[in-house]
Amino acid sequence: MYLAVKLVVIFAPNKISEFMSIVAIVGRPNVGKSTFFNRLIQRREAIVDAVSGVTRDRHYGKSDWNGKEFSLIDTGGYVKGSEDVFEAEIDRQVELAIDEADAIIFMVEVESGVTGMDEDVAKLLRKSSKPVFLAVNKVDNGQREKDAVEFYSLGFERYYTISSINGSGSGDLLDDIVASLPDMDDEGTEDAAEKLPRFAVVGRPNAGKSSFINALIGEDRYIVTDIAGTTRDSIDTTYNRFGFEFNLVDTAGIRKKRKVKEDLEFYSVMRSVRAIEHCDVIILVFDASRGFDGQVQNIFWLAHRNNKGVVILANKWDLIEGKDNQTTNEFEKYIRKQCEPFTDVPIVFMSVLNKQRIYKAIETAVEVYKNRTKRIKTSELNETMLDIIAATQPPQHKGKYIKIKYVTQLPTEWPAFAFFANLPQYIKEPYKRFLENKLRQKYDFKGVPVTVFIRKK
Ligand code: GDP
Ligand code: GDP
Repeated sequence: MYLAVKLVVIFAPNKISEFMSIVAIVGRPNVGKSTFFNRLIQRREAIVDAVSGVTRDRHYGKSDWNGKEFSLIDTGGYVKGSEDVFEAEIDRQVELAIDEADAIIFMVEVESGVTGMDEDVAKLLRKSSKPVFLAVNKVDNGQREKDAVEFYSLGFERYYTISSINGSGSGDLLDDIVASLPDMDDEGTEDAAEKLPRFAVVGRPNAGKSSFINALIGEDRYIVTDIAGTTRDSIDTTYNRFGFEFNLVDTAGIRKKRKVKEDLEFYSVMRSVRAIEHCDVIILVFDASRGFDGQVQNIFWLAHRNNKGVVILANKWDLIEGKDNQTTNEFEKYIRKQCEPFTDVPIVFMSVLNKQRIYKAIETAVEVYKNRTKRIKTSELNETMLDIIAATQPPQHKGKYIKIKYVTQLPTEWPAFAFFANLPQYIKEPYKRFLENKLRQKYDFKGVPVTVFIRKK
């Protein structure tokens, strides 16, 4: 074991542009944060974090402007309750934004003018070194433009008037925000050589992520180095195991003291989101005694949408009572049902407590990584797939024959294949799924999304 501990900042392993800045929207309730957020992310999917017991939800999504992608957090809904509770909540939102974001949109609205709560938020934000963009919302017309000037009193240089409803003003605001964001491409370049595969351990709080990583680190002589802080909120450990070197990314390791309990879920989801974007294989840990619930599924689908490899670890298997052979089968069936149609995913039943199958989990992640980076020669691919296609042709369209003549794997980070056809527009989803399934059967892509494109010959 090497004892040298080095600090390395590893930027995106595969594609530098995967690194993304975070923009947070803060402000009191009803100023229009959600309206603005929804406008920016449009059809993109948002993650909603509904914290149980608290009337609040937070949203996370992606957006882009002038070709620059960024993550957007709407920090929030509201808490019903006394003013005190409410103010504490606003403080937390702002702290969250200051801690986690690269730029902050401070939203206020012209209809009610400057309120005491706006002033409180402003006070907190002025202490931050992050750029703050004051957005005076609901400026739907010229008269309101004049009314809005009173917000200069809050003392922010970056002042914008916008209407989230009709979209006016938001272009200028976004131009300046993206210009202020760190240029991730430049930062990434010099470290791009450090291209070890990255496996992220993600999941809900209390799933057993830290225990899992500690068990591996504590017992394993194969650790090469401990690395602190790859991104701001994860810890990487470089590992050498099964003749294979990789970084294990711990999203649970850092817990800031002031974080209160109901924030944990959100932080955990945020970290998962970022870790997923920067990793090759997602090790999704969940508590088998609690089930593969909605939050776990969110993380699963996020990994899938980002075309990452996935291993599902059903942890705390020791807590399942009266197990017999059937139990595992049935549990596995239940998980796969939730994963449909992406069911070709390895599931490992693990107990960190009993040190059961913790290495199997890592071994499986290595296999998934290999599947994700697998390259099939074009000659081999055509030989195999064209026979399969000849035996089961795509359905005719209005009497026209649809012919696939050639197939090749694309140079993407995950397995993607282009099938060239005379009339690509008539090849529908079911046939694409058929092709995907055949590719999976022939070549083993367990744990990785496979994309099938049909292109014009
Ligand atoms: P949040 O609590 O800050 O997320 O605020 P919402 O996005 O839920 O908006 C609160 C209310 O303000 C809703 O009724 C919105 O329709 C309205 N609203 C939001 N943006 C605008 C705007 O640009 N102009 C006007 N007139 N109303 C707006
Ligand atoms: P994290 O929030 O995902 O990092 O979860 P932790 O690693 O902190 O674990 C949460 C709790 O679950 C702790 O009390 C652990 O001791 C417990 N735990 C972790 N793994 C297992 C397991 O395999 N079986 C049982 N029974 N408890 C476990």
